[in-house]
Parts: sequence; C-alpha cells; structure tokens
Amino acid sequence: MDQIFIKGLEVFANHGVYKEEQEKGQKFLVNATLYFDTAKAGRSDELTDSVDYGKVCQLINDFMTQYRMNLLETIANRLARKILMAYPELEAVTLEIEKPQAPIPLPFDNVSVKIHRSWHTAFIAFGSNMGDRMAYINDAIANLKADMRCEVKKVSKFVESKPYGGVEQDNFYNGVLELRTLLEPKELLEFLQAEEKHAGRVRKEHWGPRTLDLDILYFDDMVIETDSLTIPHVDMQYRDFVLVPLNEIAPYKRHPLIGLTTKEMLRKLKDSYVTQK
Ligand code: AMP
Repeated sequence: MDQIFIKGLEVFANHGVYKEEQEKGQKFLVNATLYFDTAKAGRSDELTDSVDYGKVCQLINDFMTQYRMNLLETIANRLARKILMAYPELEAVTLEIEKPQAPIPLPFDNVSVKIHRSWHTAFIAFGSNMGDRMAYINDAIANLKADMRCEVKKVSKFVESKPYGGVEQDNFYNGVLELRTLLEPKELLEFLQAEEKHAGRVRKEHWGPRTLDLDILYFDDMVIETDSLTIPHVDMQYRDFVLVPLNEIAPYKRHPLIGLTTKEMLRKLKDSYVTQK
C-alpha cells in the first residue's frame, strides 16, 4: 500500500500524568504514516484525489491542543481514530508521538508511543423471529450506519428460514452484511450485543426465539478463540441461512480455516443434503 509520511510535526500541548505537565505544557513531536492508494491522484494530478497532508497536520495540531490527556497511549489511540474517520479513503495509519522533554530525571534522547490502526472488514449475520422482524433488523442496520466508526458496505436480501436447533417457534428472517469498521473484534461484539439488548432481546433458551441476533462471521482473516468470541463463527459452514445470503454479497470470500469460498461451502452443504436424502 502507498504511504504518505509526516515526520517531526511539532505541537506544543498540555498532556502528561503530572500536574505541572498539564499546567505548563511541553513540546511533542508527531510522526504519521498514512496508507492509501495514490494511483488516482497520480493519474489526475488533483489534490482532491489525494489526502491533503497540510490538513492532516492541522487536524493533529487541533486535536492535541484542544484536549488534555495523561498518557501518550490515549492521545495516539484517539488521534488515530480521528484521522481515519476524517479521511475514510485512508486504509490505515501509523502514529508515533514523541515526548522529548518528558519528566525523566536521567539523561535520555526521547520517549515515544507508536501504534498502527486500520479499517477492518467484518461480515455480520443477522436474524429475527419475534415481533416486527424486519423493523428490528432495519433498526440495527440504521444504527450501524449512523456510527462514525462503521461503514455498511453491502446488505444481502433477507431470507426466510425455518428455526435451527429443534425449539418450536416462528420462522426467521436472516441475512448478512459487510461492514468496514474501526472497531476491534471485542468492541464490535459489545456494539452488537448492545443492539440486541436495545431490541429487547432476553437470553432464555439457547436456540430459542429472539427479537434480534447479530453474529460476527468473519473479521478480516482473523482466527479468534476466546471465552466470549469465536471467529470465524462456529458452524457457519453448516447453515444455509448464513451461506445463502453470504453467497449473495461475498461468493469468493475464503474461510480462513476451512480454505473454501462461500460458493464452495454452499455447494458442499447442498451436496450433503442430496446424500442424506
Ligand atoms: P447467541 O445466542 O447466538 O447470540 O450467542 C451469544 C454468545 O455467543 C455471546 O455470549 C457471545 O459472547 C458468543 N459469541 C462467540 N463468538 C461469537 C461471534 N463470532 N459473534 C457473536 N457472538 C459470539
């Protein structure tokens, strides 16, 4: 990926754990690497097709002088998000914040914190089989769209499907959406769980009816296995109500563990139905 570098941008600001640092202020130096495709600007020679590094410098200066924070880590994380939200054409940013006059009573050159943050691509399965099913799903999609840290790229058609897992209940509306997001996996899970709660979902039985169910199918090509999160979503390859809508918006997306595309997983699932009959 192409890169634009900003090196040694000097900002006088009031960050630090000590009271004196916040009162008197000190010099910070910011290094930023902006990742994006410069091909269009390279062809057109128009600034509007590129990222104006002068404006990015101004944004960094404004952000750092507007707020007071204790830690370089906090400044770096918030500023990285701010830059990525202000310039969605950027894919990623690396930020290093240096504090050459940090209160260290020993000879030293510099201290700094360096982070890399990027947009991610997640696929989310949604479903509802209680109340106004369409409204619950559409509300959740609208709330994702309204959040600056999220960009809904594609939404599949809704498919009506029979409930999974043997509990007697109404049919589901299911579908899948593609999301570009600055949220990290755990943050995205929390966001989705808040949406489920907002839709009045009560967790009663494991396979039971629900106003809204939101599951993370994929998060980039990450493989995650923790107590609260399994990505890719467990058993997605056996569920046609997931694979059919996923096939509509991402037929060539490859499952990072199974190694098959959506199209191939769907074919395999259909073949297994034929064999079972
Ligand atoms: P469900 O009843 O299907 O909504 O399951 C919710 C539980 O699954 C929550 O406690 C989540 O922490 C957990 N979970 C594990 N992996 C995922 C995932 N990829 N997406 C959503 N929830 C997940």
